[in-house]
Amino acid sequence: MPDIWKLKDKNFDKFIVNDDIQAKVSELAIRINKELEGIKPLFVVVLNGAFIFASDLLKKVTIDCEIAFVKLSSYQGTQSSGVVQQIIGLDLDIKGRTIVVIEDIVDTGLTLERFRKTLREMEPAEVRIATCLLKPDAFKNKFPIDYKCFSIPNEFVVGYGLDYDGLGRNSSDIYKIVEG
Ligand code: 5GP
Repeated sequence: MPDIWKLKDKNFDKFIVNDDIQAKVSELAIRINKELEGIKPLFVVVLNGAFIFASDLLKKVTIDCEIAFVKLSSYQGTQSSGVVQQIIGLDLDIKGRTIVVIEDIVDTGLTLERFRKTLREMEPAEVRIATCLLKPDAFKNKFPIDYKCFSIPNEFVVGYGLDYDGLGRNSSDIYKIVEG
């Protein structure tokens, strides 16, 4: 992909190259392999954005584990209950299991906060969070992020699974928006 990438009406600058991503993903997989050995965690991949990160990470996770996928509704429509709606839901019994939710990016954390609540009602032993990217300025430590690759500034990024209006998910590098 080019150093500057035009998607629709916006320009994006190359920000984190795939070699750097792979190095962090490998470090994370080593940690997970150590910390969750013998526990048989269930990884819950949040679609669509986390598909590339999850694929890279889970190829490097060598312990016994299961993998499931969910698709969550955007949080705008679900304010009152505080429970995020699952478009593709979790159809497994997770009672007593260690769950690791795999996300592409945690921004305000609102989506995950609500999904964690939904998961908790299913009585897992614990819920951990793994994310490729975290925007600490927006997130403000709302709950623990157990595993992350990169903390980034509060700017819009695309690539490595993340989209701008449906475009840009297919890049192996991460790009940051050029403002103005
Ligand atoms: P949150 O609930 O943590 O604020 O963010 C929810 C969702 O917003 C993320 O899972 C992601 O889909 C989207 N999002 C947040 N920041 C970005 C960004 O910089 N780029 C893209 N493409 N999506 C983002």
